[in-house]
Formats: sequence, C-alpha cells, structure tokens
Amino acid sequence: MAHLIRRLLKMAAVVADPLLSPVAGPRILIYHQVGGGSARQMDVTPEVFRAHVAWLAEHARVLPFEQAVDGGHGETLEVAITFDDGYVDVYEHAFPLLRDLQMPFTLFLTTEPVETGTPLYPDGRPLRWEQVEEMVASGLVTIGAHTHRHVDLRSLAPDQVESELAASDELIERRLGIRPRHFAYPWGYWSEGADGVVRRRYETAVLGRPGPVGPGTDRHRIPRIPVQAADGRVFFGPRVRGGLSLEDRVRSLVSGYRGP
Ligand SMILES: [Zn+2]
Repeated sequence: MAHLIRRLLKMAAVVADPLLSPVAGPRILIYHQVGGGSARQMDVTPEVFRAHVAWLAEHARVLPFEQAVDGGHGETLEVAITFDDGYVDVYEHAFPLLRDLQMPFTLFLTTEPVETGTPLYPDGRPLRWEQVEEMVASGLVTIGAHTHRHVDLRSLAPDQVESELAASDELIERRLGIRPRHFAYPWGYWSEGADGVVRRRYETAVLGRPGPVGPGTDRHRIPRIPVQAADGRVFFGPRVRGGLSLEDRVRSLVSGYRGP
C-alpha cells in the first residue's frame, strides 16, 4: 500500500514539475548509501546506482561541485553528485563506478562516526579516513562538512553551532589536510540561528529542498535534489530534470519542516 501511494505521488509530481520548476540550471543530487543493505529510501542498490550513472553519462554533464554552484554553462543538463554522512558502501559500490567514468562527486562528511567508527544508525557503517583519503587522491572528490555529530542545528544556540562546526572542520583538516569550504545542513534543515555561523565559516551551504541552481540562488541556501530508492530507473530522469518537488513538499508537510 505504501509502495502504491509512493508511486502515485511520484506520478503526480512528474505531472506537476514543469509548472513548479521552469528554471534551467545545474542540479545537485543527494545520495546517502549505495548498497548499504538497509530498507531505507536513502539507500539505493548498486544496480540502480549503476543505471543512474549510465543515465547521467548519456543525458547530462556531471560537474564538480564548485562549478555547479557557480551556475549553468550551456544547453546541456548539468548535474553534481553529492553523498551525505559518509558511509562505507559509497567507497565500496559508488566510488569504483564514478572513478571508471571519471565523474566528480562530493562527500559531505559527518566526522564523529568516521573518527570513532560508531555508525550513525545500525546499517550505516561509516567510512574510514584512509578510504576517504584514497577517494580524495583520485582527484574527483570535493570534501564538504556536515557537522561532527549530525545534529539538528535548529536545536542549538549559535555558540553551540560554532563548536559543532569547528569540531568537524578541525578533524577534516587534521585527517585530510583539507579545510572544508562547503557545508550541508543535516537533514537539509536550515536554521536562522545557524545561518550566520555557516555563512562565516563556509563559501556555500546546501539544503534538502529540490530545485535547480540559478543566477539568483543564495550561495548559503543552495537547493539539492534527494534521490530515493523508490525512484528506481523509471523516476530518475524526472527526478533530475524536475526534482519531483511536489513529493518533497508532501514529505516536508509530514515531517513538519517549514524552512527554506
Ligand atoms: Zn546527513
């Protein structure tokens, strides 16, 4: 039943999309896990991920994150691939494929799980630093920050946000020698209290709300399109082109999130 409702919602979202997202511009995709073996919507199978990448190779130009946030460059559909949190299955299943095709991608790392080896949730084994290093050495990877403990920044005072982000940035710098310049809000939840701190620390920040990146996009409220396992092969093209925004609106309504 849930499957049927989800599918009907996706179909309605495909129909609604041309009205909701008429603007052209690069699309930034959010993945979390690839072949993690969980039943979560944020965990796509390696077969489906392979199909997504094949679709992108045929229909789009995959850009490094920095180029995508700088806006469109031409007629072609432009896409950036991002992975949030930092799961080991990204190294095992997504990285080999992206390396073979020389497709750039971004890792928004939550540093505590990577540092301690303690998963964010049972089926979410974290990456190890040496795996991150190996991916960075490919020259394809942008490293971004995603807090230290994956906290909802809406629940923290600005000074707590500051120490949360400082902990993450210092670890990334110590372990990888990279100072992160980009930030992803956990769950895409923007907060007014965190906004000033985020703007001071990072050149860009991304949210979880679908849409293209346009010339007028606030560089600290950049939209991203969450890819879901149930998109499979059929709904991936519409997801990339239009974002399936209606589906996201319904999800926000259910979760009670009212932010940008
Ligand atoms: Zn996350």
